[in-house]
Amino acid sequence: MSLKAMVFIDGAWLYRRRTSIFAKLGEESGCEIDYAKLPRVFCEDVANLLDEDVGLVRTNYFGTIPSARSSFSSTKQRSFYEFLEKSCGYEMEIHEVDVAGEGRDETWIKMALGSSLMFYSAMPSAYDVAILIGDDPDYAPMLRRARLFGRRIQIVTAHPDAAQPPVGASLVMKPRVCDFPPLYIDDHAEDLRLVRENVMRVCKQCGREEQTTWAGPDFFCSECRAKRIRVS
Ligand SMILES: [Zn+2]
Repeated sequence: MSLKAMVFIDGAWLYRRRTSIFAKLGEESGCEIDYAKLPRVFCEDVANLLDEDVGLVRTNYFGTIPSARSSFSSTKQRSFYEFLEKSCGYEMEIHEVDVAGEGRDETWIKMALGSSLMFYSAMPSAYDVAILIGDDPDYAPMLRRARLFGRRIQIVTAHPDAAQPPVGASLVMKPRVCDFPPLYIDDHAEDLRLVRENVMRVCKQCGREEQTTWAGPDFFCSECRAKRIRVS
């Protein structure tokens, strides 16, 4: 029987540390990340390390969004979260925050992620290995408790880069928090770069076929897109 892995993503951490992927690829201005592939990449690492089959049972993502009352536009962020849920199969837990401030957002993410990981740890046979994508030292007590339930922990961190110098003691330096050596997200930069395939797709509006790299749920051909821009 294969082992069950659950992935827990600290959305704030992943957003910040995507710069280490860009730095590794020499794309300082950024590139697209293959979010559908990301959880599987680390599952494979754990499988290789243990030399056992590891099945990914769930990817849990924790993030925040500015509330409707604040003056920040959240349209782009909402569609990103929708993409993670619908196209990448993530389980999303998103919290509305009044102001896009630093500390409070991350406290919510850490509490939500920690509660969820502990909840699944207490559920018999929910998972065997938790893959935590995030390395905040605040996670240490929670991880130690999860390990008392017999769960194994894999931490995914990042090497320091110019944009993100190390701050304080790293989670992976703490005792009794994990069962395997840490994995580094930037070591997988090449695997995580999104490679868009050129495919023929049918326009949702006029039904004409056209070649595109667009992978979103609804496709509109170049002519219909141009018309829409003129109308709006
Ligand atoms: Zn069309």
